[in-house]
Amino acid sequence: MTRAVRVAVNGAAGRMGTALCALLVHDPRFALVYAVVAPDSPRVGTPICGDNARALRCARDWDDAPAVDVVIDFSSPAGLEAALAHCLAGTTALLSGTTGCDAALDARLLAASAHIPVLRAANFSLGVAVLTRLLRDAATALPEWDVEIVEMHHRAKRDAPSGTALALGRAVARGRDMTTETPFVFNREGLTDGRSQGSIGFAVVRGGDVVGEHTALLIAQGERLELVHRATDRSIFARGALHAAHWLSQRAPGAWTLDDTLAKPQVES
Ligand code: NAD
Repeated sequence: MTRAVRVAVNGAAGRMGTALCALLVHDPRFALVYAVVAPDSPRVGTPICGDNARALRCARDWDDAPAVDVVIDFSSPAGLEAALAHCLAGTTALLSGTTGCDAALDARLLAASAHIPVLRAANFSLGVAVLTRLLRDAATALPEWDVEIVEMHHRAKRDAPSGTALALGRAVARGRDMTTETPFVFNREGLTDGRSQGSIGFAVVRGGDVVGEHTALLIAQGERLELVHRATDRSIFARGALHAAHWLSQRAPGAWTLDDTLAKPQVES
């Protein structure tokens, strides 16, 4: 039997960190050996799960970290920077879902992937990863069809369209080999000149407690193809991250994507 993958969680007291730790302690594929929270967090020194004397306690930094195979980071850009430095020092794999990083940090992460395995995703849902792949293939196969992307989220979501909707739009552009700036259309109101050929339209719906729904429509004369993903539970991101972390623990240095972790169709000769 292969040994459990040793994991450290960065941002362990956050919503994602809490969900990850709750899954990790019951998952025999992993051993949760270290957990980092923000340096000023009231959780520093408190047990990560349970309350017994031997429970793993939250650390404020990486100084006392034991050897780990993968660091899973869902924190902040500053937290990710510290985790990256730790991973580079020990040639440890880094999986990160942290969003809002600036171009300089993006570039440092890319450069680090020459030395350590790095996997980043703005959405760790495996269903969305497959939707992205299906949409790219469909957009390539149907180059003349109009593409519209509709997303629906809970009433408190602030950014619009969602990062995932924009990523779906970029997948269409890649599938169609669009070299110039992708013609994304975000607003239609009043009298318009109609739909410009090759543009990708976005529509946003907000309400209630909707976790997340993305629909990609490919529309032609007399027929329409719809690809839909509905999230009903936020734990999908934690489950997808653990799937990817296990995969990443066996990989060489490189800039990996969630799509890389998914099986590819066998090509018939
Ligand atoms: P959150 O605010 O609940 O948790 C973030 C945690 O990181 C907080 O507890 C904060 O104290 C901690 N933190 C801040 N600075 C830190 C540091 N220097 N070191 C260690 N910890 C630090 O947010 P969340 O919902 O858990 O999301 C965390 C990040 O993951 C955000 O960037 C969010 O956009 C992203 N996210 C990505 C996905 C995905 O699928 N890729 C899904 C959900 C959230």
